[in-house]
Amino acid sequence: MTARAAELREAGADVITLSAGEPDFETPSAVCEAGVQAIRRGRTKYTPVAGIKELRKAIRDSLSSDHGLDYSIDQITVGCGAKQVVFNALFASLDPSDEVVIPTPCWVSYPDMVKLAGGTPLLVACGELQGFKLRPDALEAAITSRTKWLMLNSPSNPTGAVYSRDELLGLAAVLRRYPHVHVLSDDIYEKLTYGCEFATMAAVAPDLYERTLTVNGVSKADAMTGWRVGYGAGPVALIKAMNIIQGQTSSHTSSISQHAAVAALSGGRQHVQEFASAFLKRRDLVLQKLKQAEGLSCRVPDGAFYVFPSCAGVVGKRTPGGRVIETDADFAMYLLDTFSVAVVPGSGFMASPYIRISYASSTEDLTRACDRIIAACAALS
Ligand code: PLP
Repeated sequence: MTARAAELREAGADVITLSAGEPDFETPSAVCEAGVQAIRRGRTKYTPVAGIKELRKAIRDSLSSDHGLDYSIDQITVGCGAKQVVFNALFASLDPSDEVVIPTPCWVSYPDMVKLAGGTPLLVACGELQGFKLRPDALEAAITSRTKWLMLNSPSNPTGAVYSRDELLGLAAVLRRYPHVHVLSDDIYEKLTYGCEFATMAAVAPDLYERTLTVNGVSKADAMTGWRVGYGAGPVALIKAMNIIQGQTSSHTSSISQHAAVAALSGGRQHVQEFASAFLKRRDLVLQKLKQAEGLSCRVPDGAFYVFPSCAGVVGKRTPGGRVIETDADFAMYLLDTFSVAVVPGSGFMASPYIRISYASSTEDLTRACDRIIAACAALS
């Protein structure tokens, strides 16, 4: 979709892109300044594989103050974004017959990462009626003797669903019966919740702390996607193994980015509140607008910066050009080709028929894009 959107834009079309998974805000200026200073002070050499100590200390302190989680800096590793941290964890731990339970809809990269690491993704469909969240009975049914990980992502990309403390406790009760299953808690959207409390497994269920890897980073909350800084905190043995993988692949993320991330994490993070309240207004704008889009229906997401409307009501309809919309991918292509709005089909997140709309765009673009989506739906017969 992104490639097609770029092609259309090059050909002169006024394409509005709501497919990106990154904030449109600028990286806060104090953070940029810390990066510039790192260059000026010559912090441009190799760093320890696990990341510079100042950064691991800042991560340790934020996990402690935000969640009461107690990690030593040996239990923390920094990678090129949360993405590399998740990959390192899977690559370091999966044996060929190992399975990874992935609740769907899920972030596009999880199943492929599991496969790249030689494991088998076990997708568990979590429908809209259950808030797109994994239920304890479904988790229990999915676990086998070969299950190594349960992947949790809250707030979720693509659905924006947020697990409550009680919901995590329900899953923890199952996990207690299966000590061989580890938890990968991808908390990258932690700071972006709207009117609900964020909860994370290692804090909610302290007895699972020893088998939980908590993943997070500065990409989404601090508008730093391009700086490539993510981290993992977990058991020493796992972190060591992840560092071995990283040491033989990327070595570490950029020294400059690491210094900037220290500034992001330790500077009071005032910008995070500002971003979150702007996102909340945009979410409500999009939800309000989409009510007028015939054939779309959307539950209210509690976090991240995505809405994930069902497009079941447009499947089977005919476009003005005479094509029948058979899938969410057809609908997304119609929106792009005919109305110049780029969204992502739900099939990419293992859930159909849905589309993911990112509201990490300006209010003007969101308003124009929603008007186009409304017009696109109205033009179907
Ligand atoms: N996890 C989830 C659920 C994401 O949506 C993303 C990015 O889209 C990442 C991890 C990767 O984050 P990073 O940019 O820090 O690698």
